Amino acid sequence: MNAHMMDVPLLISSLIKFADRYHGNTEIVTRTVEGPIHRYTYSEAHRRSKTLANALANLGVKKGDRIATLAWNTHRHLEIYYGVSGSGVICHTVNPRLFLEQIAYIINHAGDCCLFFDLTFSPIVEKLAPLLQHVNHYILMSDKSNLQKSNVPNLLCYEEILSQASTEFAWPDLDEKTDSSLCYTSGTTGNPKGVMYQHRTTILHSYAAAMPDALNLSARDVILPVVPMFHANAWGLPYAAALTGAKLVLPGAGMDGASLFELFEKEKVTLSAGVPTIWMGLVSHLKDKNLKFSTLKRTVIGGSAVPPAMTRSFEKDYNVEVIHAWGMTEMSPLGTVSSLKNKHLSLDREEQLAIKDKQGRAIFGVDLKIVDDNGVELPWDGKAFGELLVRGPWILNNYFRNEKNDSLRKDSDGLDWFPTGDVATIDPEGFMQITDRAKDVIKTGGEWISSIDLENTAVSHPDVIEAAVIAVYHPKWDERPLLIAVKKQGATVSKKELIEFFKDKVAKWWIPDDVVFVNELPHTATGKLQKNKLREEYANYKLPIS
Ligand code: AMP
Repeated sequence: MNAHMMDVPLLISSLIKFADRYHGNTEIVTRTVEGPIHRYTYSEAHRRSKTLANALANLGVKKGDRIATLAWNTHRHLEIYYGVSGSGVICHTVNPRLFLEQIAYIINHAGDCCLFFDLTFSPIVEKLAPLLQHVNHYILMSDKSNLQKSNVPNLLCYEEILSQASTEFAWPDLDEKTDSSLCYTSGTTGNPKGVMYQHRTTILHSYAAAMPDALNLSARDVILPVVPMFHANAWGLPYAAALTGAKLVLPGAGMDGASLFELFEKEKVTLSAGVPTIWMGLVSHLKDKNLKFSTLKRTVIGGSAVPPAMTRSFEKDYNVEVIHAWGMTEMSPLGTVSSLKNKHLSLDREEQLAIKDKQGRAIFGVDLKIVDDNGVELPWDGKAFGELLVRGPWILNNYFRNEKNDSLRKDSDGLDWFPTGDVATIDPEGFMQITDRAKDVIKTGGEWISSIDLENTAVSHPDVIEAAVIAVYHPKWDERPLLIAVKKQGATVSKKELIEFFKDKVAKWWIPDDVVFVNELPHTATGKLQKNKLREEYANYKLPIS
């Protein structure tokens, strides 16, 4: 084969090297877990990432080993992203919101040899340590003054191991297909499954994420990822920020509306990203205190369906553009973004917003199709819905340590596709819309009802803050929708009024049969509605039969 072009591997270390060289004095600001604001630059982050790489070697960590983190979005976590992966070690970010047994399972399954954690998670680590089979070193991500606040035995201190290591380090010239980071996805059934990313897949995904029709990132941005660095690598933003040279603002443990708003304003944030539940907290803080953003231009919302009412509130009340994105941990995670095409610019505002309510069109690199129960591709007419399959260079091939190697499905052309478990439509312009998770669809008399559509309608009622719709048993129709809703404080809407509200908004046979009001709804560790829990709770619910 002729080699007329350079063979330069796509490596994670090249991102931080680039950011140091071309954006060296651009800031990275952290609200630390200990409290004060920490401020430094890409150059310093690069230097400390290299020092960490040396510190890891001093601890006996070798290429291919896995190290775990239980940590918020902070500068130290960022140094771990680069120092660990850059040196050929695998950075395994663990979701601290999972149950203790799940965390122990994940760390043991990954075979992690070190555990880096924030002070906040010290009580978890104290309980976790006796359950962990392979962890040799526990490292508190703080300075020495906080070491005595944790009772984890033989605890090492992050700042101390760094101070003892050399700052001189040459990033190894790895094969770009080397494993780089690991993230477990917690399915609603069975054990969590590991998704192992590679250097190459991470870089390609970062390029794609930065594109104008994706997250539209640049060196003029100040990015505050609210999405945690343990949720699908904060949707790739810590990498894409370095790739574009954007200023990065990391909120630490302060995820409440007031703390976030303060940081948005002080650091002049232009772009943020997070799941709808986080924005509910922030928007209600803004409403209560009658505040407006002064610099925020765009916010990426994904992880679960964005209620249309939320998009309208951001766009109309706060003049902030919503970037509705869909993806999965298995997809690094970005798959589609709902950005308009040139032909949509002449539409009126409501028509444009209706397009943005969809999960969007594929970004280059991701291919989508919807199929029926026999695997036959369905038309892109915006109406037919079926299981959504994806393929592409940053999409999972096989779950980590899955010996059955059965994560993909072959189509009749012999191509491998990853079945997402989502049910969707695709319109003639290629805009995909999720109607449900396959297991959340309500099957009534042989027809399907989208629980997401019903939830969106419910939260467009001024008295409803959050809603979940689940299928419950019906003797005639098999399943019928039950709406479980959280009312705004002091709101008086009745069951009957809420059911009436659905008339003319959805097909008659879609209207929920009954409503239950609750104080709060259960969420998963990544902020999604936990419908399996609701299904268990309401398994014997008796609908009013008319
Ligand atoms: P996770 O890997 O935990 O981020 O979960 C991925 C799943 O979240 C997807 O398969 C979807 O079911 C759901 N999801 C992510 N983004 C969206 C979105 N914009 N709208 C609806 N569901 C979404």
